[in-house]
Amino acid sequence: MTSLHNRHIDPVILAGLNGDNWGLDDYVARGGYSVLKKILAEQTPADEIIAEMKLSSLRGRGGAGFPTGLKWSFMPRAYPGQKYLVCNTDEGEPGTFKDRDIIRYNPHALIEGMTIAAYVMGISKGYNYIHGEIFSEYLRFEEALAQARQAGVLGDNICGSGFDFDLFAHHGYGAYICGEETALLESLEGKKGQPRFKPPFPASFGLYGKPTTINNTETFAAVPFLLKMGGQAYLDIGKPNNGGSKIFSISGDVTYPGNYEVPMGTPFAKVLELAGGMREGRKIKAVIPGGSSAPVVPGEIMMATDMDYDSISKAGSMLGSGAIIVMNDTRCMVKSLLRLSYFYYEESCGQCTPCREGTGWLWRVIHRIEHGQGRPGDLELLDSVAGNIMGRTICALGDAAAMPVRSFVKHFRDEFAHHIEHKSCLVPSSHVI
Ligand code: SF4
Repeated sequence: MTSLHNRHIDPVILAGLNGDNWGLDDYVARGGYSVLKKILAEQTPADEIIAEMKLSSLRGRGGAGFPTGLKWSFMPRAYPGQKYLVCNTDEGEPGTFKDRDIIRYNPHALIEGMTIAAYVMGISKGYNYIHGEIFSEYLRFEEALAQARQAGVLGDNICGSGFDFDLFAHHGYGAYICGEETALLESLEGKKGQPRFKPPFPASFGLYGKPTTINNTETFAAVPFLLKMGGQAYLDIGKPNNGGSKIFSISGDVTYPGNYEVPMGTPFAKVLELAGGMREGRKIKAVIPGGSSAPVVPGEIMMATDMDYDSISKAGSMLGSGAIIVMNDTRCMVKSLLRLSYFYYEESCGQCTPCREGTGWLWRVIHRIEHGQGRPGDLELLDSVAGNIMGRTICALGDAAAMPVRSFVKHFRDEFAHHIEHKSCLVPSSHVI
């Protein structure tokens, strides 16, 4: 999806970018690479940097929300062999399109953030795994890497400090499951992209079996800004336990779909206002606040909810990667869920039975409800199949397929029941998202 708008309040990563000022000279003119140079010149102790990261409360922006400073502290600095740093730019979930804008508009923020992370954890090799369906952004990132090497801020003996860090771009093939970190590692190793059993976790057994730290693109890109302003100041942009700014990708029935970088904890109503409000002034019906795997939330609840991990959780959903899908009152919830359930059915890697069989089963039941062939008991069947997937699979894709089903049926049961009973839609002239 093309993001049409990039608007911000209190911007950090996407500040003042227009598509023409992504290069190294512009980045340096904005103060770029100054944090890396200072750290290397002063040989700042890694523990000091990790302490700032922990203070900032920066949480992983890929979906899990794990505290970044804590994750970095897991890497054994004294490990004698090769260690790896990996960036996950494999965003492929419906509604998510922020990371491609980071490497399109501000690739050097990501390179500087990864190089600082490599210094902190004593890592000399890194990869950025880029989703297979975004080719021009991949080429741009390659160009930015070449600029950084040329300028001596990447590669051997960075800025004359004696610190070496090689960073490479890897273009994937577009499978959604490769956004799961262990499937990504398998794919990076040249194997079929299927998730691994965990434990062991990548911190001890990652790429090629070596200790590996994986973070999302937005997480790494936030690091130079965070360290420049200091952990406390970064935390103060947002809320306790939800520090900093966050890029939200808004799509669906809003006037200006796009990426909006705002302080963590900004009310959803304010984010919707930035996106120009509801398209054609229609009524808000439902919102998926954190990418398609997050449970759907009725519009009136979202209008009273703030956009941070804890508030969204209280509203019964997840912040996830920050992809907000807005639906108006013309949307049929059965048809919308049919579209989502097909995505997970199609993207299941097939490795474990509850997910491989269950995602197809969910899709087929929703398909028959939508097409006037629903049976009494189908809603109970959906709940039962979803419940038998959740918690019984190798990776989170199984849960990601099951959670939307349960939440759609819970909040919009009358629409599903009407389809089954009357073989027709409760929403006149409905559209699908
Ligand atoms: Fe593959 Fe689904 Fe099992 Fe994940 S849950 S490993 S996607 S079959």
